Formats: sequence, structure tokens, C-alpha cells
Amino acid sequence: MNILVINAGSSSLKYQLLNPENGELLAKGLCERIGIDGKFTYKPQVEGKKVLDAVDVAMPTHSEAIQAVMNALIDAENGVVGSMKEIDAVGHRVVHGGEAFNKSVLITEEVMKALEECIPLAPLHNPANLTGINACTAVMGKDVPQVAVFDTAFHQTMPAKAYMYALPYEYYENDKVRRYGFHGTSHKYVAGRAAAMLGKNIEDVKLISCHLGNGSSVTAVDGGKSVDTSMGFTPLAGLPMGTRSGDLDAGILEFLMNKYGMNIKEMVNILNKKSGVQGVSGVSSDFRDLENAFKEGNDRAGLAVDMFNYGVKKLIGAYAAAMGGVDAIIFTAGVGENSASQRLAIASDLEFMGVKMDAEANNVRGKEVVISAADSKVKVLLIPTNEELMIAMDTAAIVKA
Ligand code: ADP
Repeated sequence: MNILVINAGSSSLKYQLLNPENGELLAKGLCERIGIDGKFTYKPQVEGKKVLDAVDVAMPTHSEAIQAVMNALIDAENGVVGSMKEIDAVGHRVVHGGEAFNKSVLITEEVMKALEECIPLAPLHNPANLTGINACTAVMGKDVPQVAVFDTAFHQTMPAKAYMYALPYEYYENDKVRRYGFHGTSHKYVAGRAAAMLGKNIEDVKLISCHLGNGSSVTAVDGGKSVDTSMGFTPLAGLPMGTRSGDLDAGILEFLMNKYGMNIKEMVNILNKKSGVQGVSGVSSDFRDLENAFKEGNDRAGLAVDMFNYGVKKLIGAYAAAMGGVDAIIFTAGVGENSASQRLAIASDLEFMGVKMDAEANNVRGKEVVISAADSKVKVLLIPTNEELMIAMDTAAIVKA
């Protein structure tokens, strides 16, 4: 079975063709500058096939982008499948499913309507996801099943005490203002892998999943269900991130807006684009740059990384308390998979709660491995995330059902 996984943005579109049964990746790539001029990248994973790297392909709309993907995948010389018929289904990453979707769904006209109703919750992302779906229908026809996989769906199991904000209740009832959480596909994937690594049923384990990348969130997963997560109504909440502030005292907004005559748009732009570790360090949003800058004596770069690590550590404590214990802590995504020093900083001095790191075992990157000491009561796991494979697996399960 071959599943095409699509992650459509407003002017870009990432794709992968993979087999969810054995996890084999056949090809992946990227369409960029859609609606501008169009750059197409194609990376077949089959020996002897030619890579295309940001070549010019006119892409006035997402439909031409999908057409370019199809042409490359079925190309007689460098394609990886014989014809479009060998693509069984398409799985789309959709950012926001609101309260309407607690799991992945087969896309129907009714589902498209419900997705449109979610646009106000993610005005920057959901319209592009819908455009991606329509482009696939236009190019592949109505007979190829398409599935929507939501960043928010995994977190729909949170109890009300975790997802409610202490605002007047009518903002929840009338306006759907609540914690939704994001990165759900990643948290679900690594939680499943963690249970497998522990040799236990997912129903029997308590996990804390730390997805630490450019955007970061930590999730408490009890018995396979998300019971709390650090992102909120939007992905601006929780940890400080590359350029996002994470949680802060809402009173600061009024103070700064009054003092500098800023409107809400300008303020939120600062919170989303100019804050986080970039804002604190004044150096970069990239953790590698921060580590280098700190080594060269830049204390603010060190402070930014410390604040981030401390934020993750506090969430681990909070979620262990929320679940009444924890069996394993998972590190994933760019920072979680690659930064041994940050993993160590986050998970050290937690012996009181049964977490004992193995500094040597931790000195790895990018593979599934236990990085806690043999006598650590709580296991610490490094698990590379694979959102595309999770999307393909969900899509296959729905199409087969
Ligand atoms: P995104 O949220 O954009 O998907 P990623 O999960 O790819 O982000 O994570 C990107 C982050 O991972 C960047 O801040 C990058 O600096 C960080 N990263 C990648 N490799 C390393 C490394 N070796 N050490 C520290 N951080 C790393």
C-alpha cells in the first residue's frame, strides 16, 4: 500500500510517498513559492533515480504543485511508482480540527464543511490545508480516498479541568476558547513507539512526551491518551520557543501596548516572531547557534537555553504530578533528538522522582534508544518523531476500515 502524505502551507507544500505497512519511504520533496514562480524538489529514495533540487516549475496554484508531484512520482525514468493507480490514498496534515474532530477522518463534503468551520481557530494554517485537499481532488479525481489527520485530535481526550481557561464560561460555550494543544500526531507516534520500546501495552503506561523543536510542546499521555499538554488555544502557549514567547502574564500586554502605543496586532507579532529564545538571546532562534554563542561567552544565549530547559523540567514535574507518576519520559524533534546537553540539563537532578540519566548512553542522536541509567525507575527515551509515517498509518487504517 502506498500513501501520499501532504502538508500544505500557504505558499509551500511538503510531500512524502510511503508504505505504512513497512514504513518504507519511496520519495519525498517540497513545492515552494506556490503562487509566485514555483520551485520543485523531488528526492526519490530508490537507488539510481535522479534528484530534482529546487528546479523551476510554474505553480500559479496548489493544483500545479500537486500535478508536479504526480508527474515526478510516475515519471517513466525517475518515478517510484508505475502510475497514479499505485497511490492508494492521500493523508493530509490539518492543523486544527477544533472540537469537531477527535481522530483522523475520511474527507467527505460534510467533513470539508466542518473543516471550513474550523478556519477561525487557525486562520493562517487551515485555509492552506483545505487548498491542498482541493488540489488533490482536482488532480487525482474523487475516487482516490483522502484523509485528514489533525494536530489537535490526539489532545481531545484531555479532561475539562485541563483544557478549560479560567475565563467567563461563555467564551468557551459561544466562542470555543479552550486549550486544544498541537503536535498531536508527533506525540501520538512517539507514545506508541515508547510503549513498544518498554514492551508494554500503551494502556498500561504513563508517559511524558517532550517534542522540542522550533515549536515545542510537552504532553502527558496516560494509558495512550493525552491528558494535558502545554500548547493552548494557539501554538503560542507553553514553553518559550524559537521566536514565540510561550506562557506569560497577560498583564504585560496592556503594560507594553500602553507604553509603546502598540496595537494588538503589533503586540502579537512580537509574541510570535520576536520573542522566545531569539528575543532573550538577541542571537538566533536556532538552538545550535545559541550553544555556539554561549561557548563564545554570550551569557544571554546561555540564559535563553537555560530558560527553555527549565521550562521543560517544570512541565515534567507538573505532568508527573498530574498523572500520579510516570513510567517514561520521551525526547523528540530537532532539539530533543539532537541536543545531548539539553536532554541532560532537562532530565538531571530528577533522581527524587526516579529519573537517573546515563550521560554516556545519552551521547547519541537521532535513533530510538534508552538514555537513562539501567537502575533508573523512570526510563528516559530518545525517539525520532515521524509525523508523516503516523499520518500514513492513520490514513491506511481509515481507508482499510
Ligand atoms: P520544527 O518545529 O521547525 O519542525 P525541528 O523539530 O526541525 O523544528 O527542530 C529545529 C530545532 O532543532 C532548531 O532550533 C535546531 O537548532 C535544533 N537542532 C537541530 N540539531 C541540533 C543539535 N545538534 N543541537 C541542538 N539543537 C539542534
